[in-house]
Amino acid sequence: LLKSFGLKRWQRNSRDDAVAATTYKKAIVHDLAGVTRDRKYAEAKIGSYEFNVIDTPGLTRAEGNTLENKMMQQTACAIKEADLLCLIVDGRVGVLPEDKFFANFIRKYNKETILIINKCEERFDFAKEYYKLGFDSLVPISAEHGIGMADLYEAITEKLGQEEFPETLADPTKDNYLQIVISGRPNAGKSTLINNLINQERLLTGLEAGITRESIEIEWEYKGNKIKLIDTAGLRKRSAVNESLEKLSTFDTIHSINFANTVILLLDARTSLEQQDLNIANYVIDQGRSLVVVVNKWDLIDDKVKESYQKEFLYKVEESLPQVKGIPIVYISALTKQNINMVLEAAIKIYTLWNKKIATSKNYQGSLVKIAACRNDQGELAIIATNDDPGSAPTTYKQRFI
Ligand code: GDP
Repeated sequence: LLKSFGLKRWQRNSRDDAVAATTYKKAIVHDLAGVTRDRKYAEAKIGSYEFNVIDTPGLTRAEGNTLENKMMQQTACAIKEADLLCLIVDGRVGVLPEDKFFANFIRKYNKETILIINKCEERFDFAKEYYKLGFDSLVPISAEHGIGMADLYEAITEKLGQEEFPETLADPTKDNYLQIVISGRPNAGKSTLINNLINQERLLTGLEAGITRESIEIEWEYKGNKIKLIDTAGLRKRSAVNESLEKLSTFDTIHSINFANTVILLLDARTSLEQQDLNIANYVIDQGRSLVVVVNKWDLIDDKVKESYQKEFLYKVEESLPQVKGIPIVYISALTKQNINMVLEAAIKIYTLWNKKIATSKNYQGSLVKIAACRNDQGELAIIATNDDPGSAPTTYKQRFI
């Protein structure tokens, strides 16, 4: 990302996804209140303006040790990180006492704020009523119908200043991040692993299946490697309850895998490799991504059987996934942090190997031409030829999508 500034959104109870319009439906849009339980980062673009959006769980008045209160803490963290805040209200219902409460709450942070009045597809005239909330920047929009985006763009550029950005090569490694997707069934321990890897409780963990319902991106550095970790909900069995939500989550996982360089398949040692896990693994392999198999909850396996477990497991993997003989298998306990750094070591190593396989240098008419393949934003394969001869014209790129 060339320039980052946070933009956030809040909603009260329902999913009024103004920012979804700018983030390619990255947030899960669903009628259930509180679907977004963690804060979630996405790169967004309006016109030539690029920024990071932080999607928050929303504002609630919850107190004590409740899930709502944890969600509120996530929102507060996002507020602190951002450069610009967007408070979203429902334009059809008029100013509510709650709007005033949250407007005052946000003002305390003393940050540039835009008040977005959503659901204005039929009537814009209610919008002026919202001036009484005391914000100088008011933008009526309809997120669902994509109305008002130009005004939102203007409001953002007014608040943060306009800059032109050059076009960049659209490939997943453009900002030198190694994109690692952590996938696996619900309760495999994805959130616990990420929490412990980054040493902070950014994601909420719990005993209920499926508490982490969305992909969440976390960027940081590990031993000089820029890493972007993507936590997914896991490919779930369709359940009678929440079927549409399950479908969205599955889509999210597949979507994340498409953008990954390396995929971690996290398994619960007690259930190990089931058909669903193999489905993920096969999808990852079919997409040409590198794969690391991580067996979690190793602390729950009796020391006496660990060795035979490993032998059996290796046999099972080699038999079920013969296309990828020799893939790394790491045994960890996300909870006790035993071996968790080996996950990253393995991910970096396998990616480097994988990358070597597809990048090659050839002598063409006297100059060294490097040829590499990568995926663009649409998941298409791009062949990039780079002429690195110092005596010739600056580096040139040629792309062909196949
Ligand atoms: P997710 O759905 O994949 O994100 O799973 P969570 O991270 O929410 O973990 C589900 C449950 O498994 C939680 O109760 C965790 O405390 C527990 N858990 C995760 N990793 C381990 C582990 O290594 N050992 C043990 N004993 N429990 C774990």
